[in-house]
Amino acid sequence: MHEIKHFINGEYVASQSGHTFEDINPANGEVIAKVHEGGQVEIDAAVTAARDALGGEWGRMPVAERMALLHKVADGINARFDEFLEAECLDTGKPKSLAAHIDIPRGAANFKVFADLVKNVPCESFQMDTPDGSGALNYALRRPRGVIAVIAPWNLPLLLMTWKVGPALACGNTVVVKPSEETPHTAALLGEVMNAAGIPKGVYNVVHGFGPDSAGEYLTRHPGVNGITFTGETRTGSAIMKVASDAMLPVSLELGGKNAAVVFADADLDKAIEGTMRSAFANCGQVCLGTERVYVERPIFEAFVQRLKEGAEQLRMGWWEESGVSFGPLISHEHRDKVLSYYDKARAAGAIVVTGGGVPQMPEALASGAWVQPTIWTGLPEDSAVVREEIFGPCCHIRPFDSEEEVIRLVNDTPYGLAAALWTENLSRAHRVAPQIEVGLCWVNSWFLRDLRTPFGGSKQSGIGREGGVHGLEFYSELSNICIKL
Ligand code: NAD
Repeated sequence: MHEIKHFINGEYVASQSGHTFEDINPANGEVIAKVHEGGQVEIDAAVTAARDALGGEWGRMPVAERMALLHKVADGINARFDEFLEAECLDTGKPKSLAAHIDIPRGAANFKVFADLVKNVPCESFQMDTPDGSGALNYALRRPRGVIAVIAPWNLPLLLMTWKVGPALACGNTVVVKPSEETPHTAALLGEVMNAAGIPKGVYNVVHGFGPDSAGEYLTRHPGVNGITFTGETRTGSAIMKVASDAMLPVSLELGGKNAAVVFADADLDKAIEGTMRSAFANCGQVCLGTERVYVERPIFEAFVQRLKEGAEQLRMGWWEESGVSFGPLISHEHRDKVLSYYDKARAAGAIVVTGGGVPQMPEALASGAWVQPTIWTGLPEDSAVVREEIFGPCCHIRPFDSEEEVIRLVNDTPYGLAAALWTENLSRAHRVAPQIEVGLCWVNSWFLRDLRTPFGGSKQSGIGREGGVHGLEFYSELSNICIKL
């Protein structure tokens, strides 16, 4: 049985307690690895290694050299593309076509993009007058924040972890990563790439384990940590923020959503269907930016529902390596129970089940996997749990609307504020409506189109802070002003 160990101070180490847990392939329920479960001892060792690395070669390294190393890390991931691809697909069950297009290339790109970006960021400077006439000069400097705790989810494991590790290292910090217990593989593999690229020991550390009363919580409570960046559920973000407040630690929180798509009657229907198919069903609906509420202007409502139904019924479920497979399983049976509980709630609340609503019949080899059908509902009230709460599954509710004012009110009537997609060919309407949607990211005639230089994050209960581009610098570096009296 393959073992996944912690990566601390440049070496793979077993848990001192001897505790391990199973890494399960959700497509067939098979155990693929034994994962070492970290406790306080491993977190102490990882944070100490990360602190020591700040004061060592990494801390003294010229910026150009640091950035060259990060480029080597990206090249190292790409050189072992197939290994990363297999590791990610086995952990998540997601189709190869998706991971080869999104997870692995973007996971690698995160190191290059942030290295290039940070290298070119200017700092401000001000000349000021003083009463004695000689003046003073102010200039700002960015220093690394220190040891960054990175707590990552399971839906896009490598991509979302490197989205934080990339800028953290580019800014000169060191990291201790706690990957999701569901998807430990690629974070572990990245340790080998770090060593091969020549990243000094202790700069990148990984401790496996769970959240509360395990590696995740011990990491957030560790006094040697200088900042916590987290992606995951809003409830977990709130627990982490409480812990961080005791130590006055800065947090960057990328949390849940209940994102809407709005399809106006003047939309290009082909584009809107193609985009909504992806936003509702890609990665089996396990994308934080995914659409679970669709509002369609009444004249095209029936046609839209029919075409989305046809699209959903054409998705092909199957083993990640098979060509033509476009739809994988949910991450676990536990998560499937949650998603199916919403399928039940929808029926109980009187939904019309347009398609799906249950568990598909799978071939014997995949019968023990966490499969669910892509599902579309209509006819639910806006206050039903299915329309208000994040399900994180391949499902959406579609509702007709009659005016811009009405749909803006419906879209904004949620505690979340992560993302939205508007579909319209009317340019004025796009400019008029988009700024009124209370979200961190609003797409017009697209979805998931990301320029990594732009701000990324959620408003309301979908997050705190923005990462991406220069915005991540607010979290990953400490700005100091130096004032020199002349
Ligand atoms: P989760 O909150 O259950 O777990 C995320 C990570 O936090 C895991 O590594 C887990 O072990 C750890 N954790 C749990 N409790 C902890 C605690 N008390 N202290 C420290 N660590 C703890 O989330 P998930 O189920 O892995 O991911 C799905 C969620 O993530 C969804 O809500 C989704 O919307 C959200 N998400 C948001 C974004 C975004 O950018 N806004 C991106 C992806 C996923």
